Amino acid sequence: MDEIKKVFLFLITSLVFACSETPKEKIENIVTAKYILVKTPKVNVDSVFSFVKKQVDFGPRTPNSIAHAKCADWLVAKLNNYGFLVKEQTGTQLAHDGVNLNYRNIIARSDLRSAKRVLLTAHWDTRPWADQDNQNQEEAIDGANDGGSGVAVILEVARLLKEQMPNVGVDIVLFDIEDYGKTTESFCYGSQIWAKETLLDSLKPIYGINLDMVGDANAVFLYEGYSFEYARTILDKVWTVAKQSGHGRFFRSIQDGMITDDHYYVNQAGIPCIDIIHRDPQTGGFAHSWHTHNDNIQNISKNTLKAVSEVIIQTVYREK
Ligand SMILES: [Zn+2]
Repeated sequence: MDEIKKVFLFLITSLVFACSETPKEKIENIVTAKYILVKTPKVNVDSVFSFVKKQVDFGPRTPNSIAHAKCADWLVAKLNNYGFLVKEQTGTQLAHDGVNLNYRNIIARSDLRSAKRVLLTAHWDTRPWADQDNQNQEEAIDGANDGGSGVAVILEVARLLKEQMPNVGVDIVLFDIEDYGKTTESFCYGSQIWAKETLLDSLKPIYGINLDMVGDANAVFLYEGYSFEYARTILDKVWTVAKQSGHGRFFRSIQDGMITDDHYYVNQAGIPCIDIIHRDPQTGGFAHSWHTHNDNIQNISKNTLKAVSEVIIQTVYREK
């Protein structure tokens, strides 16, 4: 993910506040619904963290690398072990720089008897460059946060499904070649390909949640613009769950700009999908480590991984 097509801040018109309040405060209270939290299997934060570390230990999962192939094999095996039906969407994509990228989108489905289904997505490849760093820009980043964290949360959900089945089916798509981009169009190649043939036609998920950069200690997740436009009710639902679960510090009801991330193409495929992505409400930027060599395992926070995992688990298990 990279490009912000336009940045806009606006007030939620249904709320009226005194003029002295900041815009942030004015839209902080969008969510007012009260949910009763349901019993779920317990997130094991050491497990989530170990899933990040395992990916990082393969080395940068850059397209056409050995680490990339080994990590994909591991992800497929892991999802198979957790009882998912796994398919791969493979092929070659000509990239913006003339390189042919071998890709593997990993598509995994739980219990196909459930007609009602929720989709969880993240990209598993990592960026071959550190173009936001001051040093060694041509070297690949570890991608602990950008790539590793979202996949780790999804693997934890997959692991817990075995302990207690939810009322809904869970579909997972781990997108490849998301982070090879230089322009808006050249990011998210994997989800662009997937959107043309989702392989979910028989039973389509009712909505999707994309996870991107969900492991930084100071992570803040805002109301991303495309999520707001296409899937507002899902944003409200997930942010409400977060607040009810005691994780409102991370999930802030602040309007953000439009970010062309994988969720955009999931929406294009006809599945309303939100993006949980780290944004700084002050600077309007991404995580401080974004596309730098600081995107490493040392900067992954167990607290953040736990919060996001618990929100996703609760969201899935409260569906009927
Ligand atoms: Zn990235």
